[in-house]
Order: sequence, then structure tokens, then C-alpha cells
Amino acid sequence: MGSCHHSVPVGIGYSIIVSVRKGAAGYVSRKGVRHSSEPFGSGPQLDNACLPHRVIEGGTTMNSWMEELEEAAVGEIQQNVPLHKHTTWRIGGPADVLVTPTGKQELIRTMEILHRSGIPWTIIGKGSNMLVRDKGIRGVVIKAGEALDYAEFDGAFVRAGAAYSIIKLTVMAGKQGLAGLEFAGGIPGTVGGAVYMNAGAHGSDVSRIFKSAEIVLETGELVTWGPEEMAFSYRHSRLQEPESRGVVLEAVFSLQPGDRKEIQAELAEHKERRRLTQPLQQPSCGSVFRNPPGHYAAKLVEESGLKGFSIGGAQVSTLHANFIVNTGQATAEDVLTLIAHIRSKVKDRTGIELMPEVLVVGER
Ligand SMILES: Cc1cc2nc3c(=O)[nH]c(=O)nc-3n(C[C@H](O)[C@H](O)[C@H](O)COP(=O)(O)OP(=O)(O)OC[C@H]3O[C@@H](n4cnc5c(N)ncnc54)[C@H](O)[C@@H]3O)c2cc1C
Repeated sequence: MGSCHHSVPVGIGYSIIVSVRKGAAGYVSRKGVRHSSEPFGSGPQLDNACLPHRVIEGGTTMNSWMEELEEAAVGEIQQNVPLHKHTTWRIGGPADVLVTPTGKQELIRTMEILHRSGIPWTIIGKGSNMLVRDKGIRGVVIKAGEALDYAEFDGAFVRAGAAYSIIKLTVMAGKQGLAGLEFAGGIPGTVGGAVYMNAGAHGSDVSRIFKSAEIVLETGELVTWGPEEMAFSYRHSRLQEPESRGVVLEAVFSLQPGDRKEIQAELAEHKERRRLTQPLQQPSCGSVFRNPPGHYAAKLVEESGLKGFSIGGAQVSTLHANFIVNTGQATAEDVLTLIAHIRSKVKDRTGIELMPEVLVVGER
């Protein structure tokens, strides 16, 4: 089992949409699912997803759990979905299965079914901090869809669904004269991704405004975590710990009444600064490396003479040295090779080990 035999993705060559709707007879499949008898492996998902080539213990195959998802009417189920369409780098091989639950209960149900069947899962937001490997992601990718795309203001609190855009949230808060979210203007992710990452900029981050989050844990258990449980630190939250994996359903942020014009002016200033300093017209994942204590990763990369350096279709941005842009046909392999090259150059020159901020997912 040591070498990397990967199971043939079910439905390879197809992308079949199964829209499951509740009806008088329970559910209706618009199109049939192509149920395959191929064994479907399970295994660790993030970073090292090399699937064992076997039938899951208990004889569970693709058939039974896919049928369960379908019977539970959890939402849209697609097979063999190219993930480059779901990442801002426009890079990534296929997900065996992409599930877009139609609501919170459906997402919880999805987690329960996957947990019981031992199927690996990955949650994706806007894919703005993810490098999906070229072989794609085995198991199920869950995408919080329209059902979790909402924001409700209540005084100085805002409750937002996991799929809601952080940029939209900053604009809404600005319009309401609520301060605290200005730092996040221009961070192109979802609420769920921002909480998971403790996203931040301009000296602030999600932890500064976070009140609580409703989370469904890997087991299907629903919990509400406050700041202590989230254990935020620089670009880190407890959700990143392997034993605390879960999906954020919604988050509540605590803002303060402020001057609307001042808040909007600060947002506009940040936006302009990003426009001038970041390659926003090219596909990227934002900053590739974390800032080492006391240093700026961009400066270390630039001083190593790497601005503009490219491997395949992946290039160190000529505008911002901590961005790697996809100049057209970059593969994940190009990006990973470039990352390794940058790390080795910077290490040789400064002795500093750059640590990636982007998350690498999928089968090696
Ligand atoms: C041009 C550009 C500029 C950027 N600038 C910044 C910046 O200034 N500061 C900053 O911090 N980041 C920045 N980023 C990176 C990125 O936007 C953030 O990390 C963002 O928070 C990721 O959100 P996402 O929804 O895209 O998450 P994804 O990239 O889809 O996922 C990131 C991680 O979060 C997990 N995740 C996603 N949704 C959920 C959920 N509902 N529940 C649990 N886990 C979830 C995923 O599994 C994954 O592990 C930038 C990116 C780009 C492209």
C-alpha cells in the first residue's frame, strides 16, 4: 500500500449532474447516476492524499454511499468535476465527486453519510488559498452553495453564511457604518475560508472581530465555537488541526458603530493599494508564503532575484514577489516546483525557511 496506486475515479470522462429534488415519492433524479463497481478508496485527504487501492472496510463501495447521498436528497451531486474552475489559480485536477448541499441540514447529513462510510472529504470555498494537485482530489469535495450565501445584520453584529463573500461583507458593513472589517476589503474568499484561515491584512485579522461560528464536525456533530475554541493565531485556526476538522456553516462577527464615510474611505484606500501592488488581473492565490517573524516574504523573494522567474506556466509576479501567477497553462506541478525553487534560493541566501501559506490538497 506504500506506493501510490490511485483508484480510477468513478465516472471518468463524464461530468454527470444529479439534481436530487424532494417530491411526492421522496426524491427524483433528473439524470441517472452512473454507478460504478470500481472500488473506492479512503485515506488522508489534505496534502498526502494517496489513496489505498481497495474496497473500503465493510465492503462499502462508491455505490452505497452515493445512493445514500442521493436518497437523502442532500443537493447537487456531480462526478469527475475539474477543480480548476473552482480555484482562483485556475489550476487543479478533478474531484471524484462534488456535492453542493442545498442547506445546512443537507450539509450535516452529507457529513454524517461520508463519516459513516469512511469517505474522505474536502470543503472548498472560493478556492482562493488552495493549490489543487493535477491528479485532483479523491473522495468528495463539498462546496457550500447558495443556501449558505447570506448575511444578516443585527445592530453591530453580522451573521453570515459560510459561502458569503468576505469582500461583499466588507462593503455591506461599510454601507451600514460598521467598523472592524476594513482589513478584509480585497480578500477574495468566503466567510468559511476566512474563518478557517484566520484571514487577515493591514495589521488585523478575523480573530479580532470573531464572535462565534456554527460548525459541523467531521462526525456530523453540530457545535458552536467561540474565540477560545477556535484558538486563532497567524493564519491559523483550530479547524486546521487534524483532530478538529469540520465545516463552518455560518459565523457571527462583532463590529462597532463608526463613521460611514471614514470606513468607506479606508476600504477604498486598501482597494487602491491592492490594485497598485498586486497582480489582480492574473490568476493567483494571493500570498504564497507566510511572513516569517520579523520579515516580509515578498522582500526575501525579491532580494533573491526571483521576481519574474518562471517554471512552466507559473511565474513569480513581476509586481509582487510573494505572488505566483498562472500565465496561462500552469499546472500544480509547475507551481510546486517553483515554490521549492524559491524556498531553496531564499534558504541558501538568508538561512530563512519560507513556509507556504497556500494549502496544497489532492492526490500526489
Ligand atoms: C488576490 C488575492 C489576494 C489575497 N489577499 C489575502 C490577504 O490579504 N489576506 C489573507 O489572509 N488572504 C488573502 N488571500 C488568500 C485567500 O483569499 C484567503 O485565505 C481566504 O480566506 C480563503 O477563502 P476561500 O473561501 O477562498 O477558501 P479556500 O481557498 O476555498 O479554502 C481555504 C481553506 O479553508 C477551508 N475552508 C473553506 N471553506 C470552509 C468552510 N466553510 N468550513 C471550514 N473550512 C473551510 C478549505 O478546506 C481550505 O483548507 C488572497 C488571495 C488572492 C487570490
